[in-house]
Amino acid sequence: MVSPLILDGRSLSRTIEERVKIRVDKFRQQCAGETPTLAAILVGNDPASATYVKMKGNACTRVGMGSRTIHLSESTATAELIEAIDLLNRDPQIHGILLQHPVPRQINERIAFDRISPEKDVDGVTCLGFGRMAMNEPAFGSATPSGIIRLLTHYQIPIEGRRAVVVGRSPILGKPMALMLLNLNATVTICHSRTADLPEIVREADIVVGAVGKPKFIKGDWIKPGATLVDAGYHPGGIGDIDLEAAIPHCFAYTPVPGGVGPMTIAALLVQTMDAAEQTQETAHS
Ligand code: NAP
Repeated sequence: MVSPLILDGRSLSRTIEERVKIRVDKFRQQCAGETPTLAAILVGNDPASATYVKMKGNACTRVGMGSRTIHLSESTATAELIEAIDLLNRDPQIHGILLQHPVPRQINERIAFDRISPEKDVDGVTCLGFGRMAMNEPAFGSATPSGIIRLLTHYQIPIEGRRAVVVGRSPILGKPMALMLLNLNATVTICHSRTADLPEIVREADIVVGAVGKPKFIKGDWIKPGATLVDAGYHPGGIGDIDLEAAIPHCFAYTPVPGGVGPMTIAALLVQTMDAAEQTQETAHS
């Protein structure tokens, strides 16, 4: 039996980082030392969110980009967060803005996301960015699904004409993932907490995306032989949303957890921050 293909996000993300580093060096030479910079806003004390923000800052440092973290208290109001976003929107030294999800309950996350200037929305969270992406117009896609598409494309996983099932419909993951697959001509089904007959639907999929947030939720015997598995979930102990141990024997390819989708999210964010910086430079010279 042929071993399944491992969609190695860690390795591909390193290659992408090397390419971004070259672009950063070139940008700095052309812009008198100006550095492409990502600002991350962290609201509250969620340890996982703090870790993600730190990892993104470390990635910026690895490629020579600037990073700035704005840490706001757990009790921050929507108006205060908006003020912080406005400051970054106006700051010419900031090229990309990331608001770490989730924010504390009292904040209206949608209003905050939509306050980010479209040209700095490198995490693809604004309604405008989402809509443009959905219409196949130039836009920064949401970072995790963008990273997943880069990974599938790199490994030449056939998408056009294939059945894709996305389990989860969150604004930052499931929904944009489904639209990106649709734009690449997959036939897409989106499943959620009210979906009936979920195992039967997943059994039809050539590509399964687990974006549920529940450990080992998608079972091995739901997987069609030869399917490609994308596991966006990450839970303590390196467990994803798909029961990979049980599913791997049936599949053609899979993203490992960890080392699959996670590093690709960060890689997509770096590429999109770089794109944003270059677009600012082009606008300034046009
Ligand atoms: P989320 O906002 O909690 O959304 C979860 C989705 O799963 C919802 O759409 C929900 O449906 C659906 N769902 C819940 N129970 C279900 C069930 N029984 N059957 C079918 N669908 C069900 O989560 P998220 O932010 O999208 O994240 C999902 C996972 O991805 C998490 O494990 C998270 O840690 C991971 N993640 C990873 C990265 C990365 O960089 N690697 C980035 C983002 C997220 P309803 O809409 O009906 O409630």
